[in-house]
Amino acid sequence: MIWDGLRGHDRQRTQFAQAVRRERTAHAYLFVGPEGIGKQRFARLLAQCLFCARIPNEQLDACGECAPCVQMQAGTHPDLIRIARPEGKRELPVDLIIGSSERRGREGLCHELALRPMTADRRIAIIDDAQTMNAASANALLKTLEEPAPGSILILLTPTIDAMLPTIQSRCQPVMFAPLADEDVAALILKQQWVSDEPTARETARLAGGSLLTARQLLQPPLRKLRDHLFKVLKQPALDPFAASAAVLAIIDELGGDSSVQRLHAGWAIRFCVESLRIRLRELSTAAGSDAFATDPFLIDSLAAQLERCLDAEIHLQRSMPIPLCLEGMFDGLSRIRRGLVQA
Ligand SMILES: [Zn+2]
Repeated sequence: MIWDGLRGHDRQRTQFAQAVRRERTAHAYLFVGPEGIGKQRFARLLAQCLFCARIPNEQLDACGECAPCVQMQAGTHPDLIRIARPEGKRELPVDLIIGSSERRGREGLCHELALRPMTADRRIAIIDDAQTMNAASANALLKTLEEPAPGSILILLTPTIDAMLPTIQSRCQPVMFAPLADEDVAALILKQQWVSDEPTARETARLAGGSLLTARQLLQPPLRKLRDHLFKVLKQPALDPFAASAAVLAIIDELGGDSSVQRLHAGWAIRFCVESLRIRLRELSTAAGSDAFATDPFLIDSLAAQLERCLDAEIHLQRSMPIPLCLEGMFDGLSRIRRGLVQA
């Protein structure tokens, strides 16, 4: 079964199987769900099932061996059109939707989707990063959404439904995708051979929030170094706020990327602090049982206050506070709480 490689999303598969059996497929779908959970893979598998020459469409499966299946697996099927935001660009350019200004209407996704299928009995288009379409791109797409070519299917992928213009939303059938279960993320990490040991796979999965993309980012050596470093720093009783933030900034620098990527990494630094504090709280409340509360109520309160300070820092970061200021402020706050200068 072609779907065996996909983890989760069984409900969505059942829905599509029903729609195909009843010949009720829509012309346009909006696949909504966090990045890195398999929406794109789902869309491609769906297309492969509809293109497969051996297995009837209503079974919503593919043989993996016929010519269309081989082409789908190689990414060369002539009736599948795929566009996405180009690497390093913030927006999905209108040229990809309706062609360059010299060849407007004679190339691009809308033009290709309206052409007669080459080998299959329909054409399918997938727009990844659809949330990055600007108003011009979205408007260019409206005509295709309103007057779709017979049998054509257009699938737009977006992390949130709100990121799409209402005019697009109302013309597409939404399909909601949930984050993957931790055990599925762990299994996929091992299957992709990103790591070979199960404990690391499980620990990464727990942090990844159901996203394989996040899991992969987390497994980058500098990000792991950042996490290990913060865990070590927060384990020490005394904390030098300037040294702590300087070390984190150096690792963020080493990770590279533009300012938005650096902000993402700073966000991870804060989340690693949250994780470390939560683990300590859990240890205190479980391993030591009620004794911990009896012997050191200050520690529990202090950890809770530190957690709150980290969550504040996360909000500051989202509100575009400069990264160094945000981290210095957070470590200074943590240090003060630890020294009892701030009431926990
Ligand atoms: Zn096939």
